[in-house]
Amino acid sequence: MSTRRVKRIRDLLAKKDLDGILVSNPANRRYLSGFTGSAGHLIITPEVLWLFTDFRYADQATKEAPDFTVVRYSNNTGNIYSVMTETFRSYWYDKPVKIGFEGDFLVHDVVQDLRSAIPHLHLDNLSLKALRMQKDKEEIEYIRKATQIAEEAFIEILPRIRPGISEADVALDLEVAMRRRGAQGKAFDFDFIIASGYRGALPHGYATDKLLVAGELVTLDFGALYKGYRSDMTRTVCLGPADAKQREIYQLVLKAHEASYSAMRPGAPCKDIDGVARQIITDAGYGDQFGHGLGHGIGLELWEEPFMNTTSTAVMSENMVITVEPGVYLPGWGGIRIEDTVLITANGCESLNQTSKELLELI
Ligand code: ZN
Ligand code: ZN
Repeated sequence: MSTRRVKRIRDLLAKKDLDGILVSNPANRRYLSGFTGSAGHLIITPEVLWLFTDFRYADQATKEAPDFTVVRYSNNTGNIYSVMTETFRSYWYDKPVKIGFEGDFLVHDVVQDLRSAIPHLHLDNLSLKALRMQKDKEEIEYIRKATQIAEEAFIEILPRIRPGISEADVALDLEVAMRRRGAQGKAFDFDFIIASGYRGALPHGYATDKLLVAGELVTLDFGALYKGYRSDMTRTVCLGPADAKQREIYQLVLKAHEASYSAMRPGAPCKDIDGVARQIITDAGYGDQFGHGLGHGIGLELWEEPFMNTTSTAVMSENMVITVEPGVYLPGWGGIRIEDTVLITANGCESLNQTSKELLELI
């Protein structure tokens, strides 16, 4: 599995005329090597695969990344730069070496440190952002499972979403229900978004101790982590029968969701699909209240390429997994967002979500 992925990097090396690539983004590091630890760098050359990590992870790295030669560093044996210098010297001697690095990830200081530690090293800025856009079979299976876990948890806790319970309790219930179903944890590095009533106007309204009140809309945005892969979904429910305005805006967001979903297929520019939802919402007079992009790629990271927004240059292709999440947010009133995770197929797309998107009126 990692062999095929490493080959893509080696093809890139040849194309860019580089001696090697330094991979530092944890998601890319895991994707290429299998190593799940929190610290480390890969160096991939046409002939060798090195994984530099510190002493805490040396055993784990050897097990998880059998194709790589693990080079251990610790404060006792020298920091990462001195260990890299030694490794480079023993491999390339003092030959000038041209290495690509993730300029959109590695901080300037680290690049400077490497340059001064290894004088004959030339570092070229490179982006690996597109590396994980198209998912393979196993990745799709994990995202599908993460989605299923989140949906089952949502259905389980629905009876507890009632006036009097706090947003924080809803978030906790969701997390516990997901973990019981085999999730490693939350798909988010922050709390789930549980935004009730007026707080629904905050697209990123993390759960607070606010109690739910009858008649309010509640936006729940959450996901599960499964084997390193993430799911992401949003449903907005109403605590009781919806009034005319709640119903009107809900139907508008649903229409935007369904129209953009139906347009997703290989060859479709992400920007155009964003435009489909944006046009519908703008035509209804709420364009300014849809202040975020329509969706994002998802996989080892919650937000990854491709992004669907007004400036996106990405074009959809088979096996991309992208969220669709139009929303309308009215300060003082609240908000509505509906989000599914969608797989681009050979001829169109398939939502990985099964949960109904019709307005749920609880109580
Ligand atoms: Zn979400
Ligand atoms: Zn999302």
